[in-house]
Amino acid sequence: MSDSRIPVAILGATGAVGQTFIRLLAGHPWFRVAEVAASERSAGKSYRDATRWIEGEMPADVAALLVTNCDTTSVKSPVVFSALDAAAAGEREPAFATDGRVVLSNAKNYRMDDDVPLVIPEVNASHLDILATQRARRGWSGAIVTNANCASTTAVVAMAPLHERFGVRQLFLTTMQAVSGGGYPGVPSLDILGNVVPYIGDEEPKLEREMQKMLGTFTGSAIEYAPFAVSAHANRVPVENGHTMCLTLGFETKPTVEQALAALREWRGAEIVRGLPSAPDVPLRVRDELDRPQPRRDVMDGKGMTTSVGRVRADNILHLRLVAMSHNTIRGAAGGSILNAEVLVKQGVIARSARS
Ligand code: NAP
Repeated sequence: MSDSRIPVAILGATGAVGQTFIRLLAGHPWFRVAEVAASERSAGKSYRDATRWIEGEMPADVAALLVTNCDTTSVKSPVVFSALDAAAAGEREPAFATDGRVVLSNAKNYRMDDDVPLVIPEVNASHLDILATQRARRGWSGAIVTNANCASTTAVVAMAPLHERFGVRQLFLTTMQAVSGGGYPGVPSLDILGNVVPYIGDEEPKLEREMQKMLGTFTGSAIEYAPFAVSAHANRVPVENGHTMCLTLGFETKPTVEQALAALREWRGAEIVRGLPSAPDVPLRVRDELDRPQPRRDVMDGKGMTTSVGRVRADNILHLRLVAMSHNTIRGAAGGSILNAEVLVKQGVIARSARS
């Protein structure tokens, strides 16, 4: 029987995020991994031989694929999930968009461009409408859609219901980020076991600029940033998966703890996401236990797509504090990208009949 699913390519398929794409796409009802691409070090080898597989069993159909170079001649699929390093994404992603492909990028290069949507669809699916401007301005028949830095993603999902009702104006953020956030092989074991590293290269600037865009408003022609200031501390901790973070928030309208909890509990996110194959039943779960969320216990909630929030309480300096946690390579990277692609299928930007 022929496979009617949309063929997709993974760029950077051998890395931590690339592997997560492959795990999450195994058996996907709409998408089929048709191509895997990586650096010249890997090109020409079978995926099995090129990849140091991190978790579970490598899907047999993907194991047998030949890894190609990341160029528009070698890669034919109409939908391209990019898990490339920033150094490699810069020229390659626009080349695919110029060539008519829809690129779903995890790299930082284009996230902050005016005409590039930076999307967590439950929060800001409406920002995808900027693609019309992107295509007109750049002359692309394809498109680039980005998802955020993984730690920004955790914080934004936790803040979205509060921002909608009370207007975030200040945020102090301290992250405790998992080692898988640094890619494979990541931080050397002797630097991280039994240790905390209070620095992650370029992380704090990303945290201080991306969230205002995601929580901003699409005006019909541009994305107007949300008006709040962020002060971020980024730390690497010896946790495998799941970024945990402490947020202290000031609002335009100060909520009571009960009002904040009600907003968090009632939030379901944008309607268009509900029922999509990768959408969790609940995008945000409030934990009532005093010592949750914890990455070991909560990271796979909603198959890694649910963000957990807890310890919501009043603050002595600003208004409110809380703890948030989500899976960095699933919700914060590959799973988020796949959900963005599912929304684009629902909107007709990615044709269901697309063939390579
Ligand atoms: P990674 O484990 O280091 O993987 C990097 C991938 O890029 C590998 O497949 C590598 O292929 C490929 N690559 C490197 N240089 C290349 C080149 N010159 N040409 C073609 N391919 C090249 O990194 P990662 O953690 O998966 O991150 C991938 C991207 O996602 C980065 O932009 C990162 O910032 C972003 N991101 C990561 C996370 C996370 O939690 N890890 C979350 C959000 C976003 P080879 O194996 O052949 O070298």
